[in-house]
Amino acid sequence: MESLRATGAERERAAARLHAALGRLLGPAGSELTCEECFEMLDRYVELELLTTDANREIPGMHTHLHGCPACSEEHANLKALIESSPEWEL
Ligand SMILES: [Zn+2]
Repeated sequence: MESLRATGAERERAAARLHAALGRLLGPAGSELTCEECFEMLDRYVELELLTTDANREIPGMHTHLHGCPACSEEHANLKALIESSPEWEL
């Protein structure tokens, strides 16, 4: 059945895209982020950290990654310091 095979591939691709989108939004609990993913979400993570106390819940893999990855940890510290010292940043 040709159509079924095509559908299967479509579904697999859709599932992969959904997984990536969800991972970006929620972060799969317990799964470690890559540096690339970490870097992509760093802005949002720092914003969440500054706005709420739930950054770790919003992006679960991030906290773990930052603690295990000196490069991203440094990037995170720099970005946070930059945003905090920015004149536009007012609560
Ligand atoms: Zn990293």
